[in-house]
Amino acid sequence: MRPDILNPLFAETETLDGVGPKMKKPLDRLGLTRVRDVLYHLPERFVSRRAVTDLDEAGEGENIVVALTVTEHRASRNARAPYRVLAQDAKGNILSLTYFGRASYTARKQLPVGEKRWVAGKLERYGDMLQMVHPDHVLEEGGESLGHLCEPVYRLSEGLTQPRVAGLVAQSLAKAPELPEWIEPQQVERENWPGWRDALHLAHRGENAKARDRLAYDELLANSLALMLVRADNRRRRGQALAGDGSYRGKLALPFPLTGAQQRSIAEIEGDLAQEAPMLRLLQGDVGAGKTVVALEAMLIAVEADAQAALLAPTELLARQHYETLRRLAAPTGAEVALFTGRDKGRARESILMGLLDGSIDIVVGTHAIFQDKVAYRNLALVVIDEQHRFGVGQRLMLAGKGRRAPHVLAMTATPIPRTLTLAQYGELDVSKLDELPPGRQAIDTRVVGVERMDEVVAGVERHIAGGQQAYWVCPLVRDEGGRDDETGDMAAAEARFAALQERFGKDVVMVHGQLDPALKDAAMERFASGDAKLLVATTVIEVGVDVPAATLMVIEQAERFGLAQLHQLRGRVGRGAEKSVCLLLRSGELSETARDRLALMRETQDGFRLAEEDLRLRGGGELLGTRQSGDAAFQIADLEQITRLLPTAHDDARLLMERDGGLEGERGEAARTLLYLFERDFGVRTLRGG
Ligand code: ADP
Ligand code: MG
Repeated sequence: MRPDILNPLFAETETLDGVGPKMKKPLDRLGLTRVRDVLYHLPERFVSRRAVTDLDEAGEGENIVVALTVTEHRASRNARAPYRVLAQDAKGNILSLTYFGRASYTARKQLPVGEKRWVAGKLERYGDMLQMVHPDHVLEEGGESLGHLCEPVYRLSEGLTQPRVAGLVAQSLAKAPELPEWIEPQQVERENWPGWRDALHLAHRGENAKARDRLAYDELLANSLALMLVRADNRRRRGQALAGDGSYRGKLALPFPLTGAQQRSIAEIEGDLAQEAPMLRLLQGDVGAGKTVVALEAMLIAVEADAQAALLAPTELLARQHYETLRRLAAPTGAEVALFTGRDKGRARESILMGLLDGSIDIVVGTHAIFQDKVAYRNLALVVIDEQHRFGVGQRLMLAGKGRRAPHVLAMTATPIPRTLTLAQYGELDVSKLDELPPGRQAIDTRVVGVERMDEVVAGVERHIAGGQQAYWVCPLVRDEGGRDDETGDMAAAEARFAALQERFGKDVVMVHGQLDPALKDAAMERFASGDAKLLVATTVIEVGVDVPAATLMVIEQAERFGLAQLHQLRGRVGRGAEKSVCLLLRSGELSETARDRLALMRETQDGFRLAEEDLRLRGGGELLGTRQSGDAAFQIADLEQITRLLPTAHDDARLLMERDGGLEGERGEAARTLLYLFERDFGVRTLRGG
């Protein structure tokens, strides 16, 4: 149970003044559903604003606050021209407050002629006129002063404004209680950190490295503690020692010899499985390194030991693919492989449930549906989690809690995580690395092409298909949701592109994306995998795992919008067969230098680790930890620099707390529990009760 003291923090944002159903939507989009989330929605930066008594004091381009008297409203007959409100400063200088589009309605209300107002914004010159376009603030004189010189700038979503968010933050801060200190006292003293509540106030008020560090440290400490608790709990539990006699594995007839790295990883896994203590191992291997076969061998060890194994995939699509692959490869062994997804209904579902219960199914492949309460196994002893960075940390570790005897867990990922981050993401998992690609792989010919050459690209795709091969076409969005009047339909959106390509290619082109009905998605995917369809238009849903060796061309639209690690994952979908593969990165006309560098790097190297390291250097680690925007990012507050600098100490602090200070007992232990709940790492607490 969550400590009562945290209740005000977990109240819904609707309990804040001014938040109704209309405002809830943009807040939800930012992940701000509770007071706590608003508090941790820290400013992206601050703008400093100078309060000036008149405009002579201010320079062009400067952010200022000034008192003005409204003299005139000028609407134009031309609908495209801006709405101008003229106003005068103390010395009689005239300034145009300039509004475009619907913003003029606000201007009409906020700026009656003859009235005095505080106006804050950026001073510009337009012809020989001074102007301020869409002022950041307009307040009545005598209202709350705009004298503060430093203003937070928050990440927004459509429908929110800076003052709106600032107002919600202020309300949330007022609700924030003092919390007991969970950080080691000496650490707080050494760093001269503020307490939790003060740190939040300070972090919203201005640049404050100490406050930010403290809040980031809290998050890292919570994460380390949770991972340690789960790990400790795992060690205490007994699993079953799985000794395989090779009877199933011996019948495998793989079409290729295993690489050295595959053999080594299998041996490491076999060693772990033979122990009674449950395995918690991460199998790291670049795209195409051959993780699936390693998983199969591991699962067959379980089957040889008269137990069952489950493979968990992040999407239906991948589950299906894995199922097909594993069933085909396992066929000569006689092991019974089944697919189980949330979509199975009626008789089919019943028969799988029976098979899992009576043990006639040896290996089950599926989505998280395989861990529903209703699913009972005769003897589930090994769980393999594929592409597990898609799952939240908590979720993936909690899976280990299914069943009285803890199953062994093998987590597989293609995300090349630099060393510093492995600890943060996975705590103390053992790691096996597939650092060797199967032989005979050809480098993927990667080229960066300007979007203005679209016609040539489409013609190239046509030739490619005519030559009997297949291709992917990746778009950054499902559909354009910008919603601005001047941008009529973004072609890089999958649906629009699909429609355009369909005119040219007819039935040869299919589409998959995350918002598609699952049955339609499967049907499209099946047509592509079978070679019936030649061109697959997709969003990043094809990023992980999809394996169609005959697809040897990939076009990625607006490639600059993707992170390097993501591009790398996408590109890994081609180059899977013996044929030479090509990847075309389409870029927009105007690119920053960083964006250019990033695309150039894609062309240069195919080494996932190198790309990951470079990506870190070029744009920070948000991407590797899951994008910050997405709900399952491992870290919300700590940035990469802070993780690197603070994590080792947080880790030691957590260890001290566990070992010296008796876990979560005593006063500091209580405080640490509060911390775990605050960061929703409470699955760590739950392990303490063996629940
Ligand atoms: P990933 O690590 O990305 O999951 P897969 O397991 O999907 O990679 O393997 C990629 C491709 O390489 C598959 O087509 C698989 O059959 C093939 N493969 C795996 N191991 C080897 C090997 N030792 N030699 C040749 N091909 C292999
Ligand atoms: Mg895979």
